[in-house]
Amino acid sequence: MASPLVGVRADPCPHCRSGEVYLRADGAPQCKDCKWTGPPRYDSKYLQSWSTVILPPSQTLPAPETPHLDPTLQRTGGLLMAAAVAHVAAVFAVLYVTLPIPWLETLLQYHYLDWTMVLGLSVVTLGIILQSVFAVVAIAGAVVVLGDYKGGAPVFGTVGIAAILFSLLLFGGPVGVAGGALLAAAAAALRPSLRTRSRSYAPA
Ligand SMILES: [Zn+2]
Repeated sequence: MASPLVGVRADPCPHCRSGEVYLRADGAPQCKDCKWTGPPRYDSKYLQSWSTVILPPSQTLPAPETPHLDPTLQRTGGLLMAAAVAHVAAVFAVLYVTLPIPWLETLLQYHYLDWTMVLGLSVVTLGIILQSVFAVVAIAGAVVVLGDYKGGAPVFGTVGIAAILFSLLLFGGPVGVAGGALLAAAAAALRPSLRTRSRSYAPA
């Protein structure tokens, strides 16, 4: 098997004194004129070369990893779903729940202002509308948060506080307050990731 001569000139040939002596790939000097070959400097069995190995994709490879939702977002989604349930439940708690203990029923339907009309709407109608709006915001929030959206905290916080105030003042009672608190908790749950991120930039 012919060894390729590499372009490094070695000492003159000891056999024919020709200057055309080059080093082979294994480091052995070889004369171009008389084919004299000196001792190799490298063991040729270590000088093999390989063609580029291209392996076909295997059917037995593990399935590509499915992206896992951030646990913070999962937790926030759960809080928002619970908030939606609470706001729907608040309507029923105020309008339909009758309890054997009168003071408990009064507590469930607690509202600070004794208004019957607000902006031309009865408080009951307004209450049903607004508690439904709070529930829809919470459900929509859960959908986007579970879809990997992280930016809803200001909306959930604002709506949550509005829901707490409205439930305390007019319609919703403690159940509506719980729904607002769950919205606010969802907003708070979204924020720690931002807080730790900005803290890591701050000097220690
Ligand atoms: Zn020679």
